[in-house]
Amino acid sequence: MSKPFYERGLRFSCTRCSVCCRRDPGYVFLSRNDARLLASQLEIGYSVFVESYCRWVDPDGEGKTLSLREKANYDCILWDGGCTVYQNRPLQCRTFPFWAENLASPENWNRLDCPGINRGKTHTAAYIALRLEARGADPVLRSEP
Ligand code: SF4
Repeated sequence: MSKPFYERGLRFSCTRCSVCCRRDPGYVFLSRNDARLLASQLEIGYSVFVESYCRWVDPDGEGKTLSLREKANYDCILWDGGCTVYQNRPLQCRTFPFWAENLASPENWNRLDCPGINRGKTHTAAYIALRLEARGADPVLRSEP
């Protein structure tokens, strides 16, 4: 197997600019574990959390998947002057930008709209591999067919 383009690691440091949390439509997919943690932080029941803060979406035609809702201006529903659940933010947010699609090629990596890319701390290939494995171990929640 060929070595990944990031075998010497990749630089990334979040500037907390909130570009990835606001003003553009998108999806924050949730695992069951994500939803449980967020419900717990918000001190509401799991079902109430899913009903009030989530939506079922199917952007790829692969089945309905649980995602956070957005406000009318496309801000994340949990953004209010900053991430209101930062300590328990979803795995998708915690592992950004080390997602499989972003790591598929240097072009994908370099075209990310994020000022933290290629700046600051170098993350090793081993660290990146752990980030990739984390999603596999905690998959997004899909509705029953
Ligand atoms: S766009 Fe990048 S730098 Fe800005 S908050 Fe998101 S991850 Fe951090």
